[in-house]
Amino acid sequence: MPRRPTTVAILCAMLAAVHSAAILGIEAYDVTVEVDAARGLPAWTIVGLPAGAVKESRERVGAALVNSGFTLPPRRVTINLAPADVKKEGTAFDLPIALGVLVATGQLAPDPLAAIIAVGELGLDGSLRPVRGALPIARRAAQRRHATLVLPPGNVAEAALVSAVPLCTPPNLAALIAALHERRLVPADVPPPANPHDPQAPDFADVAGQETAKRALEIAAAGGHNALMVGPPGAGKTMLARRLPGILPALEESEALEVAAIQSVAGLIDPYSPRNSARPFRAPHHTISDAGLIGGGNPPRPGEVSLAHLGVLFLDELLEFRRHVMESLRQPMEDGRVVIARAAHTVAFPARFTLIGAMNPCPCGNAGDTTRRCSCAAGDIVRYRARLSGPMTDRIDLHVHLGPVGLRTLMSPRRGEPSVAIRSRVEAARARQRARYRSAPNCACNAQAPPSRLDVHTDLAPDARTMLDRAADRVTLTARGYHRVIKVARTIADLDGETMIALPHLAEALRYRPSDPANDDVPPAA
Ligand SMILES: [Zn+2]
Repeated sequence: MPRRPTTVAILCAMLAAVHSAAILGIEAYDVTVEVDAARGLPAWTIVGLPAGAVKESRERVGAALVNSGFTLPPRRVTINLAPADVKKEGTAFDLPIALGVLVATGQLAPDPLAAIIAVGELGLDGSLRPVRGALPIARRAAQRRHATLVLPPGNVAEAALVSAVPLCTPPNLAALIAALHERRLVPADVPPPANPHDPQAPDFADVAGQETAKRALEIAAAGGHNALMVGPPGAGKTMLARRLPGILPALEESEALEVAAIQSVAGLIDPYSPRNSARPFRAPHHTISDAGLIGGGNPPRPGEVSLAHLGVLFLDELLEFRRHVMESLRQPMEDGRVVIARAAHTVAFPARFTLIGAMNPCPCGNAGDTTRRCSCAAGDIVRYRARLSGPMTDRIDLHVHLGPVGLRTLMSPRRGEPSVAIRSRVEAARARQRARYRSAPNCACNAQAPPSRLDVHTDLAPDARTMLDRAADRVTLTARGYHRVIKVARTIADLDGETMIALPHLAEALRYRPSDPANDDVPPAA
């Protein structure tokens, strides 16, 4: 039971300090919540750059304290969130503020607080609700020896991914204070990890036909290449893209933790299965802002490109995205990360994703379809296609055209090759790449290989080299495009289990270039 405050205790009001933490980027930093309860007109002031939700903590903390059986003496309460020069947001300071107020008003002894780090949102009834960023906070807490991390029960599975830190997850404020009085914090029950394999995941076996597109996606998965599917509505572009994560190799343990940290900061982590070895799949709508796509805000939050880190970013109706939003992808596509600068600090979010785009062949969507008439003028189609800028086109390795699916294919009882069979080929090709790039930092697949790792003379068979030179003369291949063709050919050779890039590998890679007039995927207007 909470101890009733005595008059003497209230008169001996003191300055309280509670250890807590906050998120900057995908890292956590220490925050000390200082609470002073002085005599004077009752007031409640929070300093240390609090954002809206932090300022509102007054209402939640006040109600939670009273409803948990404590008193809120009429005092001039000043709360400082140190360091005071970094903007704080979110609801995680509710719990440390409540603890600080109890110490400052003499309702809780200060010494048990020295060994805890507290984060948590308070409900008006004193219950503890989950907060964002518990995983990075647990990582930070693990660096402070002998400290117990006190956090809401809803965050326990996520925080438990960091095995080095003792956790305590009281159901509510009253239970925590009772445990602190008795100097006995009960270790948290950590639930067993959930099965990472989702039997409901979409499978390539469900997609009838579209063998060229499936082949292109297999190459994309095997080498981490960006791909663009051009085809009429109903050709199955979205259906195909959603099946891509199912043929990607499972995340390794360190990668899964990296992905979990980003999801934790974004508040998107699955509380029951925080470390998921499935690759992320993000499909933002074309009305998204550049801050939503790339990341932004203050404190900065990860955007879709970071939520797709080590997975797939699918942009359906690619040409409907605003031009500057689409162009903002160029920098993360090159660097594999997003750097957001603010006055006080700079934050970097990882963003190594595979971009899959989908678009119609023309404004009406029917160009190239023999069964429906395209109503677009030739000039309209050219203008439409020009919305995809040259630099963006150049960064997409695999351009593939999808025709409409015939009724006979749709009705056929034959099913496509299951994802698990395709994934085994992808995994074998990835294993070859891992061995090849073992010494290269931040390079796990052909798409990430630096130009210095591509040697035209040793990697390409002589006839393939001649073909590449001819192609470079015939079509305008930029330096980047030239390297990208070799990388795609390298992946096709890896899928074949070949060390040398042979003529058929290079020929197939060139077929996926948009600039090859012999294989231009802009169909003539009907
Ligand atoms: Zn049209």
